Amino acid sequence: MPQSSLYVLPPPATPCLAIDGSEQFFPVRRIYCVGRNYAEHAREMGADPSREAPFFFMKPGDAVVADGARLAYPGQTQDLHYEAELVVAIGGSGENLSAEQAKALVFGYAVGLDMTRRDLQAQAKKGGKPWDMAKGFDRSAPCSAIVPAARIGHPSAGRIQLHQNGELRQDADIADLIWSVPELLANLSSFVRLEPGDLVFTGTPAGVGPCVAGDALVASVDGVGKVSVQIVER
Ligand code: MN
Repeated sequence: MPQSSLYVLPPPATPCLAIDGSEQFFPVRRIYCVGRNYAEHAREMGADPSREAPFFFMKPGDAVVADGARLAYPGQTQDLHYEAELVVAIGGSGENLSAEQAKALVFGYAVGLDMTRRDLQAQAKKGGKPWDMAKGFDRSAPCSAIVPAARIGHPSAGRIQLHQNGELRQDADIADLIWSVPELLANLSSFVRLEPGDLVFTGTPAGVGPCVAGDALVASVDGVGKVSVQIVER
C-alpha cells in the first residue's frame, strides 16, 4: 500500500459493523451470499431443493448497513423483497478448506437482510443474465451487530424470523439449512480464498415477500440477535 498522501483521491472508508457488547468494530471486506439454502424457500422460488451444490453471489462490502437504518426504497424496482438470513463473519484466512477447518475461521454470527429487487432477479433468471443489480445494490445488506463465536459458540439451531410491521412473515429454524455453515464455507473456499472481514449470508427460509415505504422490518435469529430497518420513500 502506498503512503496515503500518494493517493490521487482519499481512499474509501472501510465499511464496518458493531461487535455486540463491545466498543470494537468488524471491518467488512466482501459479502458472499448463498442462494436457495432452505427447502421450503427453494420450492417457493420454483426450484427443486434436492441437495444440488450450493451457489453463491455477491454484494459489495459497502452495501452493508447497520441495525436501525432507514432504507430508501431503491430505484429500478417495483418489487423490493426482504430475505431474513443468518450471517457468518469470517475472522481468518484460508482456501480449499474442510468443513472443520472452515468452522475454525468463523469470528462470529449476525442477522442480516438480503434485500432483493425480485422483479429484476426474475428478469435476469429468465434472460440468463447476471443478478448483480437485483442483489448487489447500494444498502442492500442490512446486518445486526456481530456476536463473537467465543461467546455463543457455533449455533446449529435456533428460530429465524422476519416480522413486517409486527406481522410474522418468515418463521423457520436455522437447523433447516440445506447446507450447514461449515459445509457452505468449505464449498465457498474452493472458489475463493476466505479472508478476515468477509461476511457470508447463508440463505433465507420460505415466506419472502414485498415491502413498501413505511414498512418496519425486523429479522431475528434466536441466540444471535436481530436487525431492524425502516423502509422510507426514495
Ligand atoms: Mn438470500
